[in-house]
Amino acid sequence: MRREIETNSPDDTYRLGLEMAKTARPGDVITLTGDLGVGKTVFTKGFAKGLGIDEDVNSPTFTILQIYEEGRLPLYHFDVYRIGDPEEMFEVGWDEYVYGKGVCLIEWADLIEDLIGEIPSDRLKKVMIVKDPEKGFDYRKITVDEG
Ligand code: ADP
Ligand code: MG
Repeated sequence: MRREIETNSPDDTYRLGLEMAKTARPGDVITLTGDLGVGKTVFTKGFAKGLGIDEDVNSPTFTILQIYEEGRLPLYHFDVYRIGDPEEMFEVGWDEYVYGKGVCLIEWADLIEDLIGEIPSDRLKKVMIVKDPEKGFDYRKITVDEG
């Protein structure tokens, strides 16, 4: 199923993340793709909040994985922007998390598409965010593919 959502502020994108977190189940994998500055981290912050995580969530430049365990489900937040070799995913324990009890949320998932391709589609949700300069600075089109 594919949904298209248009947002016109960071808050709207945050709320979409927050809403999606409410129905998240253990083992879900959410991929986030889109250029630098489209709002992947904004979405992630909302998602974390929706799981009941109050800790501040961001994307540290040199950390591939951040784990938050205080919410309804553990959140494994990957940001693979600086990945050199997909092998690095195994070094941080990819198998353990992708087949774990929490939810994986992966910024820049297109950089590890072979690994993503191995995940059963029934637990994969793909969130793609794009800008459209003609529709304004804060406009984003967000496509969600699931199942
Ligand atoms: P990414 O993680 O994709 O690199 P960030 O989430 O860190 O991007 O940053 C997105 C930036 O775009 C933020 O500064 C945010 O305030 C701004 N922004 C403007 N409009 C929107 C929108 N509709 N949705 C999300 N972010 C937006
Ligand atoms: Mg980011």
